[in-house]
Amino acid sequence: MIGEFELIERIAALQGADSGVRIGIGDDAAVLAISPGHELAVTTDTLVAGVHFPLDAKPADIGFKAVAVNLSDLAAMGATPRYATLALTLPSIEMGFVEPLLGGIGEALKRDGTTLVGGDTTRGPFSITITAIGELPHGAALTRGGANAGDNVFVSGTLGDAAAALAMRGHWPILDEAGKLARSRLEQRLAKPHPRVSLGVALRGVASACIDVSDGLAQDLGHIARLSNVAIVVDVSLLPLSRALQTVVPDPEQQWPFAFGGDDYELAFCAPPERTIQIECLAAELKLPLTCIGTVGPGRDVHLLDRKGRVREVPRGYEHFRA
Ligand code: ADP
Ligand code: MG
Repeated sequence: MIGEFELIERIAALQGADSGVRIGIGDDAAVLAISPGHELAVTTDTLVAGVHFPLDAKPADIGFKAVAVNLSDLAAMGATPRYATLALTLPSIEMGFVEPLLGGIGEALKRDGTTLVGGDTTRGPFSITITAIGELPHGAALTRGGANAGDNVFVSGTLGDAAAALAMRGHWPILDEAGKLARSRLEQRLAKPHPRVSLGVALRGVASACIDVSDGLAQDLGHIARLSNVAIVVDVSLLPLSRALQTVVPDPEQQWPFAFGGDDYELAFCAPPERTIQIECLAAELKLPLTCIGTVGPGRDVHLLDRKGRVREVPRGYEHFRA
């Protein structure tokens, strides 16, 4: 066991070199530079054991995900991540737990060039709060309120993998070799989501509105619909589903609802049709599928249609404190 100050020293070791950090961990507050002509994007997310990750999750995955969900919010704004703070509440300082936890945090920060600049350490039931600070050229933020009738709706990567892994926890079917590989792929996407930081930055000036898919596609597109005063129509037959999901859930009618389950950390965005070629080039450049899943029109709310044009019910996303 080590003490609080020794722990902070270990945490300080995660801090990368960034010339923008005028004063970092060790003083009363951090003092940070930002690039000329830029403004800040700031976001905070808390992860609580049993709510945001299962009690038996690997500490390295918990650390990674705590950072990833914050960087995903910055990506959705089109911001470049720069700095982060870490508020850590621990019942005790068990190195077998803390070491890999810090390892996961450090790995996710490094992946997107983010520097840890401060935080707070307290005793109590385990929770982890990260604040991520990114920067944007003046006025370049991607918001939820900019979609226009006539835009197309796109989503990055594939949807539903994490939701399927969560739904099948504890009752996976018996799987062959390919099925086992697929299962581990789905579990990996739940445990260690990769925020779409490069995509978010590349969508500046391209997307009219953007959000990250965390609570579930319908709910998240619903935020865009409400704040943009538009209706969004999604064709569920266009939803990008991974080979892994299709392997584990062979019935197509049972596949697509997972795309509404949340925890994907993909970006959903709108763009006018004249941007489509640019978006296709971007997908090739980033080696990341960007799939058109629907359209924006006048009206309100999110509506789902299937290939035959039938209206489908929206599977509900995850809401905290839902009665
Ligand atoms: P204070 O009592 O002034 O809040 P602390 O002892 O909490 O100071 O923190 C000392 C320094 O260590 C500060 O620079 C703070 O930002 C940093 N720090 C404390 N806890 C963490 C943490 N969990 N992660 C990163 N930095 C931390
Ligand atoms: Mg403090």
